[in-house]
Amino acid sequence: MFDLFAKKFSRRKLLTTTGLGLATVSGIALETDSVSAQQPIKGGELPPQIKFSPDESPITEEGSGGPPTALPPERRLGFAIVGLGRLALEEIMPAFGMCKLAKPTALVSGDAAKANQIAQQYGINPKNIYNYQNYDTILNNPDVDIIYIVLPNSMHLEYTVRGAKAGKHILCEKPMATSQAECQQMIDACKQANRKLMIAYRCQYDPHHRAVIRMLRNKELGTVKVIQADNGQNQSNDLSQWRLKKALAGGGCLPDVGIYCLNATRYLTGEEPIEISARMFSTPGDPRFKEVEESVTFQIRYPSGILAICSTSYGYHEARRFRVFGSDAWAQLDPAFSYNGLRMTVSRKSPNNNMAENVTDIRMSEKSQFALEMDHMADCVIHNKRPHTPGEEGLQDHRLMAAIYEAAQTGKTITFPPVSGLDVTRGPAPGSRP
Ligand code: NAD
Repeated sequence: MFDLFAKKFSRRKLLTTTGLGLATVSGIALETDSVSAQQPIKGGELPPQIKFSPDESPITEEGSGGPPTALPPERRLGFAIVGLGRLALEEIMPAFGMCKLAKPTALVSGDAAKANQIAQQYGINPKNIYNYQNYDTILNNPDVDIIYIVLPNSMHLEYTVRGAKAGKHILCEKPMATSQAECQQMIDACKQANRKLMIAYRCQYDPHHRAVIRMLRNKELGTVKVIQADNGQNQSNDLSQWRLKKALAGGGCLPDVGIYCLNATRYLTGEEPIEISARMFSTPGDPRFKEVEESVTFQIRYPSGILAICSTSYGYHEARRFRVFGSDAWAQLDPAFSYNGLRMTVSRKSPNNNMAENVTDIRMSEKSQFALEMDHMADCVIHNKRPHTPGEEGLQDHRLMAAIYEAAQTGKTITFPPVSGLDVTRGPAPGSRP
């Protein structure tokens, strides 16, 4: 294993010595922040970019992209967070501290005391606290540009439609909704209101996932044959939680965590499935699985011939990983779908010894996935760009999850007509300019 942050080597030099191709070297060494420092944005020029002096540029910093250029607080876009549960309080609110274009300006909650406390902690004006009844009056609040919906899945539709009608852009948590019909209504509502809609597929903004995508597009593993992806956890016994109620969650492990595997095989290949088969099982008598499924396995065939094998469960010990098997090498992230601590490994034959395998552990600097996705949404609003993960990306996952359930229930293989082109449900890659 090689530590790519080893003091005596630059990242570029060490990557070269590990035998990774030059394209990989530039791909990883040039990984920069999702928002380029050089573009002017709404309301005037960006502040000039700070450059390191030679004394401040140790060799380990080579290729890091330099310090990020952030907008001053008064020019960042304001986010209203709807739903102050675990994800909002443990991940999203703290991530604003790492944002460069986004800031929290409003809260929407059914619990006024909690909202007041959070507003105090994050310097949010108490006049910008809403409840679920007066949410629509956010229309009149110029402090709010974007609404981030972090509610149980069945509530995403209502709060997207009301938010778009109030003239705000919408960032919505995954899964997008509980059905394809709801997804379509969300897309239509945002289109009608001429507002942007982005689904919070955080992994698609993570540097590790982006590095693997680049590797595959550059054919650095040869021809990709198989992708294996697993995402599951042993769900708690708290039977009151909304995740175990079909009406609120839409399903069990599949839409909650299995969606990461499905989405990953789509963005890694850039293709859309042509065949899906699946199996599903819930332990009889386990009260957690009265309404929602425990475990699902599914297989996908993509038009290029790539096969995907995925598993998801609310019953197995936490595992969150994928491995891509190519003709010349394999690459994996393990964990892949966690909020942090992602680890990338690439294995290929040694160029010098046919009996030896070069296994390279690639470490990349960690960035907050939530900060990256929120800054991407702000960047899209500022530059009037289509988000990389728009409503159509969420709708496609729901269409495929419906096929996975159907395949599991009927034992049949569900087929789809081939879709030509890559990344057809996605907007421009994060960081690209308009
Ligand atoms: P949570 O249960 O911790 O929070 C849900 C919030 O919604 C709570 O504040 C709750 O009070 C509020 N709420 C309002 N009406 C409710 C109702 N009728 N029933 C239950 N809660 C109600 O859930 P969470 O884990 O924060 O998940 C919220 C959303 O975020 C879900 O869509 C989930 O899939 C998504 N999520 C995404 C990630 C990710 O990594 N992107 C991780 C966790 C959750």
